[in-house]
Amino acid sequence: MPSATIETKTHILVTIACLADNYAFLLQEKASGAVALIDVPDDAPIKAELAARGWTLDQIWLTHHHDDHVQGLKALLADHPAPVYGAAKDNHRLPPLDVALGDGDSFTLGETQIEVMDVSGHTIGHIAFYAPAAKAAFTADSLMALGCGRLFEGTPSQMHASLSKMADWPDDTQICSGHEYTAANARFAITVDPDNPALQQRMRDIDTARAKGAFTVPSTMGLERATNPFLRAHDPALRATIQMQDASDTEVFAEVRHRKDQF
Ligand code: ZN
Ligand code: FE
Repeated sequence: MPSATIETKTHILVTIACLADNYAFLLQEKASGAVALIDVPDDAPIKAELAARGWTLDQIWLTHHHDDHVQGLKALLADHPAPVYGAAKDNHRLPPLDVALGDGDSFTLGETQIEVMDVSGHTIGHIAFYAPAAKAAFTADSLMALGCGRLFEGTPSQMHASLSKMADWPDDTQICSGHEYTAANARFAITVDPDNPALQQRMRDIDTARAKGAFTVPSTMGLERATNPFLRAHDPALRATIQMQDASDTEVFAEVRHRKDQF
């Protein structure tokens, strides 16, 4: 399954499989036809999707500097020139940017408002793009399906603060994360939150989806809040399981992240 589509009254969201387990996304505002691409792991599958739909790219948004999110950009731009948006903080190590963004900035895709949030932790300078009218957020390797990105550059308290900001998004927000890691994330999640019925159900749904070769990304914020251990540091049952009833939320998060690194 090279791509999957979610359509609302106002927007079309396309998830495109790239490389071994990466995702890129296209977001189209139907009224104007304006299209944004989020991350460029590889040019070929994105070019094929644009050709199949007859879409022209208006904007390219980069979430963070890692190669597996930007390495297809040069080859894509040769056929699909469009302005490139990314974090001002990462200007020195991202491909050349046309629009440099910081936390709290906003811009528009057609008439659709896009909010930029600094979600440092996986890297310093990782940003997320939130489109409330499209009920979609592009979180790449910050908030992931049943997980969060490894802390290559940031501290546990930075990532916990980033995740806490994202946790304010509404339940029906589509969380568009960067990788198909969900089945492996589930095997870890159940070790720290074994009695959570929503997590048990999600594990069954993940197995069913993966057996059919279906994507488990995007997921919804409501499902993440109910099942993602990295959003559940406050949860009494999770705290009891890892015997950290009296610790701070940040300490619990740090321990869960540490356990995942060892898993
Ligand atoms: Zn990354
Ligand atoms: Fe990545």
